[in-house]
Amino acid sequence: MTAPVAGVAAQRSTQPIPTNPARGLVCRNCGATFGLIAEHACAECFGPLEVDYDPELMRAVTREQIEAGPQNIWRYSALLPTGQDPESRVSLDPGMTPLVRAQRLGDELGFTAPLWVKDDSANPTHSFKDRVVSLAATAARGFGYAKIACASTGNLANSVAAHAARTGLPSFVFVPSDLEPGKIVQSAVYGQTLVAVDGSYDDVNRLTSELAETDEFEDCAFVNQNVRPYYAEGSKTVGYEIAEQLGWRIPAQVVIPMASGSLLTKVDKAWRELVAAGIVADTEWTVYGAQSAGCDPIATAFENGWDVVKPVKPTGIAKSLNIGNPADGPYALDAIRRTGGSVGRVGDAEIVQGIRDLARTTGVFAETAGGVTTAVLRQLVERGVLDPAKETVVLNTGEGLKTLDPLAPVVGPTHRVDPSLKSVRAAGLIS
Ligand SMILES: *Cc1c(COP(=O)(O)O)cnc(C)c1O
Ligand SMILES: [Zn+2]
Repeated sequence: MTAPVAGVAAQRSTQPIPTNPARGLVCRNCGATFGLIAEHACAECFGPLEVDYDPELMRAVTREQIEAGPQNIWRYSALLPTGQDPESRVSLDPGMTPLVRAQRLGDELGFTAPLWVKDDSANPTHSFKDRVVSLAATAARGFGYAKIACASTGNLANSVAAHAARTGLPSFVFVPSDLEPGKIVQSAVYGQTLVAVDGSYDDVNRLTSELAETDEFEDCAFVNQNVRPYYAEGSKTVGYEIAEQLGWRIPAQVVIPMASGSLLTKVDKAWRELVAAGIVADTEWTVYGAQSAGCDPIATAFENGWDVVKPVKPTGIAKSLNIGNPADGPYALDAIRRTGGSVGRVGDAEIVQGIRDLARTTGVFAETAGGVTTAVLRQLVERGVLDPAKETVVLNTGEGLKTLDPLAPVVGPTHRVDPSLKSVRAAGLIS
């Protein structure tokens, strides 16, 4: 645990931003409340802290106000904990990514209701992580931190380094050394400090928790540690956007990839907030989680009816999802069970097939995490667990160009010819 920067809590409580609906942090485990401080664990029970909002201020927000905002996540700033001042933001202004109608994929899977892909590969660094980093970096600067850092499975590293490059807030990024080459290059190109650690993500995460206690990193915000409550709220914008893009409606079913499980819990939280604020009509939805067979601790807990998640040692190609000890696992299980959902897990061959199916039928090229989600969608339909007669959204959280390696052996040119018609004819393309 990192102590908040001296004076920050006091400063925030004596000078509240009136248009900020966040009234403090609350422990998800014991319900203890705190000010808007830079802590992620409860001082009473070590449970995870979450941003708590004033329901009155949330109810004051209107569709019109949101629709008049910028074409990025900040259109939802009245529902976020970072205030309304554009000058205070440390952000690449991600969001408002396409909601793609997946008609051909739906036809193939037997859907009679609309199937959509929320394509977050369209964000500035090509994954949904830009949303969470924009919130974390903005909170970090608000708390007076001089630099930002993270432990990452790849996409977070890409986004933290890019935010640092754009905004001049220096970054220190720690990743497992066996990441995909694309993610190493994309983390390195922004010219920030990049530390490759010979260990798993869970090892890297433990190392950065220890680093946070050192004098050298006292002035540093770890985006997914001490400012994690703010970071995590960025994922709500995925849920807000889906609802707005459907004409202020919540889809009946959603399929979400899980690493720590945070994104899944926040999409569900976003929809509960929109209903509570009267921005969308009250409705029921079902949340489905997707994991790879190489890292399936939440799937295993779901199947066994456990409330706790037993850590695993991750393997397999879906490296962005390889968190063996998922911090939000129990809360993801809560959301899945409360909404009558389920969890699917798929192996590496199915993940590659999922990437190819999505690309072939929608023109969206997903990274391995999107392959997991697409393959899990197919599996859930085939198992009769997800209803193809209900409107469904699947999340593509990252860009395929980041994880080319597993595709290289299985896709390539369909023909190879010399530059002559004779050769093209010999290849069977003309007669
Ligand atoms: C981080 C990540 C996720 C999952 O995020 P959690 O909130 O930790 O569950 C999903 N997809 C991609 C591509 C990611 O980088
Ligand atoms: Zn607590």
